Amino acid sequence: MAFHLHLLDTIYTQQQLRAALEGEVFQTPHVALAGRSNVGKSTLINHLAGRKALAKISATPGKTRSINCYRVEPQGFMLVDLPGYGYAKRSKAEREQWKRLIEEFLVNSPELKAVALLLDCRIEPQANDQEMGAFLTQSRLPLLPVLTKADKCKQRDRSHRQKQWMEILRQNPPLLFSGTTGLGAEALREALTKLALGA
Ligand code: GDP
Repeated sequence: MAFHLHLLDTIYTQQQLRAALEGEVFQTPHVALAGRSNVGKSTLINHLAGRKALAKISATPGKTRSINCYRVEPQGFMLVDLPGYGYAKRSKAEREQWKRLIEEFLVNSPELKAVALLLDCRIEPQANDQEMGAFLTQSRLPLLPVLTKADKCKQRDRSHRQKQWMEILRQNPPLLFSGTTGLGAEALREALTKLALGA
């Protein structure tokens, strides 16, 4: 079933995050979306919502630095879009700030049920993706790996990539997704709903 997404909150700073974590918004069960800058996260969110310009698709990657919270209707949970990591042009201080914000969210969000980790199907596993994967697998949270831009890969390469990530993350094979063809969209909606609501 399609998702109707409503942007509830946009968080830039640790101070805003702390206030938000104590407020009502974060009492709703939620699943976070993490991934490298340019992995296709905005495209995926827009596709799930059936809308073109909900999350900004970046011509300049690395622009979105905020945590964006979307209420998902009619399912009644929340998707938390985390700022993309690994954008090379960012300063060290900015990267440190990013890290603190994300870690604080991942550790302290009371109703966070799982994290979907988006990985680019076209490229070899990158160090920062593996680092994020390791951080998440060591946490208490269920992890849903998703390979994005699957339309850009041949069947054989998709399978190879799935296998690689299965071994690295010690998880089920990643879901395949394409915002261009819609491949995997329904499976992804179902998986996110199930993780958030246990239904
Ligand atoms: P974000 O930085 O993770 O939010 O990435 P964006 O959604 O802005 O996408 C980055 C670039 O990859 C854009 O040029 C998108 O058009 C392209 N892209 C994203 N998803 C797909 C996909 O499923 N297939 C293809 N072929 N291109 C994609």
